[in-house]
Amino acid sequence: MPRFTGSRSGPVGTFIGRFSREPKYVIRRVAVVVLIVAFVAAVVWSTAIAGGALERVRAQSADVAAAKGGTSASSSNKSAKSTDGKSQAAADADQQAADIAATLKSDKSAKPLTDAERTSILQQAQSTAADSGDVPQTFTYCLETKGDVGSTTAFSNTVYRTLNNAKGWPRAGATFEQLNGDDCANADMTLILSEAKYMSDFSEGCSGSYSCRVGDQVIINADRWNGGTEDWLKAGGTLARYREMVINHEVGHRLGHYDNETACAGEGQPAPLMLQQSMRLDGCTPNEWPLDSELWIGWHRVEPELTRLFSPDSPCREEPGRYSMSVRRSARFARTRSHENRASASSRLMGVPNGSSASPAGRSESPSNRAQ
Ligand SMILES: [Zn+2]
Repeated sequence: MPRFTGSRSGPVGTFIGRFSREPKYVIRRVAVVVLIVAFVAAVVWSTAIAGGALERVRAQSADVAAAKGGTSASSSNKSAKSTDGKSQAAADADQQAADIAATLKSDKSAKPLTDAERTSILQQAQSTAADSGDVPQTFTYCLETKGDVGSTTAFSNTVYRTLNNAKGWPRAGATFEQLNGDDCANADMTLILSEAKYMSDFSEGCSGSYSCRVGDQVIINADRWNGGTEDWLKAGGTLARYREMVINHEVGHRLGHYDNETACAGEGQPAPLMLQQSMRLDGCTPNEWPLDSELWIGWHRVEPELTRLFSPDSPCREEPGRYSMSVRRSARFARTRSHENRASASSRLMGVPNGSSASPAGRSESPSNRAQ
C-alpha cells in the first residue's frame, strides 16, 4: 500500500506527512503545533502589554493636563461633580440648614450676660480702644423689638459681644454701653429686632428682605437674623457670623460709613465690612469685622462739655457729616494725643479713611441706609 506522501495536500501536507505515523512526520507535526501555540501566546501577551502601555499613556496625559493649570483640572473636577451636582447641592443645603438649626437651638438656651461678663467684655474693648491710636469714645444704645420676634436674649448678648469685640469697632476707638428704661431717651442709637413685614414702617427705603438704618435706628430684619442670606451661606459663612456682620455693618452706618465705600480687593480676599455682603461678595470671602482701611469714625457722640451746644434733638444729629465736623474740631482742641502716628490718627479723626481720598463728611452720608 503506497504511503501517503501528502502530495495531494500541497507543500505543508508533504512537510508534516498528514496521517503518516513515521516518527519524523509525527515530530514535525508536534513541532508545528508547539510553534502555533507559542505564536498565539506571543500575540496575546503583546496585546496585553500594549493595552497596559496605552492606559499608562492615557493616565500620564490626564496628569499633564491637570498639572498644566487649574482651568483644565477644575473643569474636569466640575464635570465630575456635574454628574453628582444634585447630591452636592443637596449636601450643601443640608449643611446650611444644620448650621442654622444649631444657632437657633443655642438661642433657646441662651442666658443673659451677667454684670461681671459685661464688665469683662467692656474692659477688653476699652483696652483695645485705648491702644487704637484714635480718640476713645463710648457710644450708648438701647434695644427694642417690633412685632413677634420671640426671645431677645441671644440678640441682646450678640449685640453687646459684637460691638465690643476686640476685632470690631473698638479698633477705631469705639466702645458701646447698653442703656435701659428712661436712660434710652439719651442713647446714641437704638438697635431694633423687627419682623420683616414691619421694616417699611421705619422708612419707605427699608426693604422687607434686608436690614436697615434710619437715623439713630439700627433695624435688624428678623428673617435675616434667623436665616442669614443664601449668598452669604453659600460662600461659607455661618449664621452666627452673619449676625455679627449685619450688626457691625448697620452700626457702621450710624458711625458715618456708607455702603460699598471700599471695593472687594480681589478673589478670595476678606470682604470689606461695608460691602453689601447680604447681596453680593464680588469674589471676596465673608467677613464680619471692619478692615484696617475701614477703621475710622465719621460721627462722634456729643462730648459732655458740648452738650449745651448740641442738644440730643438737634437736627444736626441726623446729618452725621456736618454734626461730626463741629465736634471733631472741638475734640481736637480738647484732647491731647500721644499716639506716635499723629498725622494718621488726625486724618482718621477728620473722617478720612487711610489710603483714600474719600471724605465721609464731604459725602454727607444719607440718614438712612436701606440695604442690609
Ligand atoms: Zn448698608
